[in-house]
Amino acid sequence: PFITLEGGEGCGKSTQASMLGRRIRGLGLKVVLTREPGGASLGQTIRELLLGPGQEPVDPVTELLLFLADRSHHVRAKIEPALLRGEVVVCDRFADSSEVYQGLARGLGLERVRRLNQWVCGQCWPDLTLLLDLNPGLGLARAAQRQGELGQGPSPMEKEKLEFHERLREGFLAQAQAEPGRIKPVDAARPAEEVAEAIWAHVEPLLRE
Ligand code: C5P
Repeated sequence: PFITLEGGEGCGKSTQASMLGRRIRGLGLKVVLTREPGGASLGQTIRELLLGPGQEPVDPVTELLLFLADRSHHVRAKIEPALLRGEVVVCDRFADSSEVYQGLARGLGLERVRRLNQWVCGQCWPDLTLLLDLNPGLGLARAAQRQGELGQGPSPMEKEKLEFHERLREGFLAQAQAEPGRIKPVDAARPAEEVAEAIWAHVEPLLRE
């Protein structure tokens, strides 16, 4: 199965991805833990270009095309081969992030981004998407704390206004409403262990199929 985690800044996706990976491995299954942007070699460079410290934000079309280039390579080089080997793939952000960040929040249009995603991803589409839903004020505070601990400044995305992050949250929730079979919202304001339990309740049945 192909499982993705989505949500706004500071919602705890990466913590949950590693907890989930461990739990799946505990069942004796092989797991590939990956993320976007930057899950494969080319993506690491793209991530640096877009999100590296001190980078200036680029225009939304360029941003979208770079994220799509990353995804195209990531799908072919890493995700599809792992799925073909019968492994479980857990990916921190995927196509929904482009639809919500660039399609909705940056105004490039949901349908346009969706068509491009379909072209780039082909059959490689998540079986399950966990949407870590969190009040953006809380998420940004968490992200700022993490950056402080790492001795870094905010990334270009985190410098966006609160209103931008409110749009993201609404966008992700609308995606979940439109595709309730695949996208499962999870309340991410709770302690990490509780969030992990809520995630597991969605993942376990999928692994038994
Ligand atoms: O925290 P994370 O590693 O998921 O950060 C990736 C960053 O890239 C986020 O800050 C998000 O704002 C940005 N992003 C984006 N559009 C995408 C994927 C990620 O703007 N399609």
